[in-house]
Amino acid sequence: MRFGPAGIPTVCRTVFEALEYLSSSGLSAMEIEFVRGIRMSEETAKAVGKAAADLGISLSVHAPYYVNLASESREKVEASKERIRRSLVIGELLGATVVVVHAGYYGKDRVAASEAIKKGCEEIAEFLEANSMRVRLGLETMGKQSQWGTLEEILPLCRGPCVPVVDFAHIYARNCGRVNYREIMELVQGFKPLHIHFSGIEFVPVGPDKGNERRHLPVSSGGPRFSELVPELARFGSATVISESPLLEKDALLMKREFEKFLNLKG
Ligand SMILES: [Zn+2]
Repeated sequence: MRFGPAGIPTVCRTVFEALEYLSSSGLSAMEIEFVRGIRMSEETAKAVGKAAADLGISLSVHAPYYVNLASESREKVEASKERIRRSLVIGELLGATVVVVHAGYYGKDRVAASEAIKKGCEEIAEFLEANSMRVRLGLETMGKQSQWGTLEEILPLCRGPCVPVVDFAHIYARNCGRVNYREIMELVQGFKPLHIHFSGIEFVPVGPDKGNERRHLPVSSGGPRFSELVPELARFGSATVISESPLLEKDALLMKREFEKFLNLKG
């Protein structure tokens, strides 16, 4: 089981400093955020990948938010695919396990959107296979009603290099506070190690925007309860838990300690 932050810890200035810091804190994962653009050269990616491997830190990448594989604009779809491919290339050089993507929006036609996203994912899977790349394409469960990406939508697309990324805060928001941890972990049995995002979350409880995420919160400030996931994680066996809380590495450590406490008590 690995724990780490989504992005560079608040006390660090560079990604290299971050890796050293995480390693000395007892954390063993980090997600590199390209959410506002891919700002890393191939040379840097190789160097970061080597430093991470030397320190035993498993890396993942979050692709830009500005992606919509279901856009009605052909240009936007092509630009989205290019951003994903570029994230995957840098991810591969980093030695990242997975590149996490927000695949797209339903727009006017949910069925057409699902078809377009399926097609886009198949093309990207072909790209990964044609280039013998090891990095996976991770489809994240999304936290807004307008976004494609319930677990039920994602799972049928997960084969070959496409894998699910389970964001429990998003699932919690979308289902207005209901999460069945056991059921979810059973649905993703075939995907080990599983990539997980965890944080607290605030969501819209009523009205037309009901079930939309508002903002991520610290792990113990409302939202899914990590203590309820812990026994399911222990049973599942192999996963990377990324803290998307505003308290990044602090909450990654909090979750790690809670998980270890559970294992110790269980004996
Ligand atoms: Zn995300």
